[in-house]
Amino acid sequence: MCLVRPRLNDRGRLTDQRVMGQTRMTSDTWGLVLSELRRTVGKNNFTTWIEPIEFAELVNEVAHFRVPTTFVGNWVSRNYGDQILRLISEAGHKVKRLEFSPAAGAAEADDAADRPASAAARRRARPAADEGDLPGAPLDARFTFDSFVVGKPNALAHAAARRVAEGGPVSFNPLFLYGGVGLGKTHLMHAIAWELQTRRPDLRVVYLSAEQFMYRFVQALRDKDMMAFKTLFRSVDVLMVDDVQFIAGKDSTQEEFFHTFNALVDQNKQIIISADRAPGEIKDLEERIKSRLQCGLVVDLHPTDYELRLGILQQKAEHYRKQYKGLVLHDGVLEFLAHRITTNVRVLEGALTRLFAFASLVGKEITLDLTQDCLSDILRQSERKVTVEEIQRKVSEHYNIRLSDMLGPKRPRQIARPRQIAMWLAKQLTSRSLPEIGRRFGGRDHTTVMHGVRRIDELKGTDPQLAEDLELLRRMLES
Ligand code: ADP
Ligand code: MG
Repeated sequence: MCLVRPRLNDRGRLTDQRVMGQTRMTSDTWGLVLSELRRTVGKNNFTTWIEPIEFAELVNEVAHFRVPTTFVGNWVSRNYGDQILRLISEAGHKVKRLEFSPAAGAAEADDAADRPASAAARRRARPAADEGDLPGAPLDARFTFDSFVVGKPNALAHAAARRVAEGGPVSFNPLFLYGGVGLGKTHLMHAIAWELQTRRPDLRVVYLSAEQFMYRFVQALRDKDMMAFKTLFRSVDVLMVDDVQFIAGKDSTQEEFFHTFNALVDQNKQIIISADRAPGEIKDLEERIKSRLQCGLVVDLHPTDYELRLGILQQKAEHYRKQYKGLVLHDGVLEFLAHRITTNVRVLEGALTRLFAFASLVGKEITLDLTQDCLSDILRQSERKVTVEEIQRKVSEHYNIRLSDMLGPKRPRQIARPRQIAMWLAKQLTSRSLPEIGRRFGGRDHTTVMHGVRRIDELKGTDPQLAEDLELLRRMLES
């Protein structure tokens, strides 16, 4: 039960109404108060907080309300108490405080927290009793700003995350981070949470995956405990939902997410969302959610570049050098890995972890040879698959000829030579057989391809310009 003392004011209006001497407040008058509240607190807050409370009576200048849980009572009292008092007075009733009592069933649940009770009863009761366990997931201790390497591809996302982590006034809502697998979305969200915990311990910060959100929602439905679910999620100060694409196509979860989202935005609470793609591109996500998600700041994490990968590897290697004292890491190994493993950071980290563990196990120095042996499977998997079409396109661009000419029947040297170069590269960089390559060059015979490849092999020994071109093209195609 909680009490609110009215802010003593001596506004003339109150005095006038006191003179009128009305004492009985009817539900009609409460209805007027309600419609005023609906107007001022916003639709979502109204549905979440005000609608569940029920006016009982006004006696001895105390307005009594029934509430579904103590938590709701506390919340309304703290956030809207003064306003409700003022509105009741303005409606012509003398009132000095509000009293919220849990409805019969709810009172039991509230009390249960202080008594030995079944686990289920406890789980339901606790949120109401102590303002709730935060519904979030645990944070990974390694995912901090300190350990996040900033490069061109993630600089904007990092800056936005930093800004939010300062915990100042909300300047964009939501912050929407998106990008492919393993590019650091979860890392950044955890980093925000850690930072906020230090800077603003007063804030209720909740991080969880969209999947966990759904799980809790379904559980609440099953336990017929939606009230606790709603109040819990609407009472956080910063909400982070990871991998939101997960709820696409899951209708009731989307609906609930949408309401939670709106309620928090209305209260000016910070929301941070991540997904594997831009809001507009998430299939089976409701339009209204998409447009809501686009309202704030949308930033993407680009695929890593060589410098960023090298930076991440150097940081990790530094860490491992301390862990595995005495292990020798040869020059060029990290560069080799940054060059070869371009898929995602998780794979890159996994490779380095394995490499150090392996080297320390067999007691060898980490050389390029050892790296290639130890990581042959990962290296093979992340080999970039160059296609014959890509090769044809790049070579035509390089020699400034039309793609249609390269594939067509023309035979003058300035077209035939680039064609042979493209054939040679196709042979070197793809696993296509000679007949397959021939087919892709306008249906040529495999002997034509073989001839072309041989010709280039000969020429590159004698023509330095050609050798240089081949090297350049190969590097462009493989990067
Ligand atoms: P996502 O959530 O985008 O799939 P994660 O945040 O889980 O990716 O990142 C995958 C792994 O890569 C984590 O171990 C993370 O620490 C690491 N990682 C990603 N980007 C960076 C970075 N810029 N600096 C350091 N580590 C990173
Ligand atoms: Mg993630």
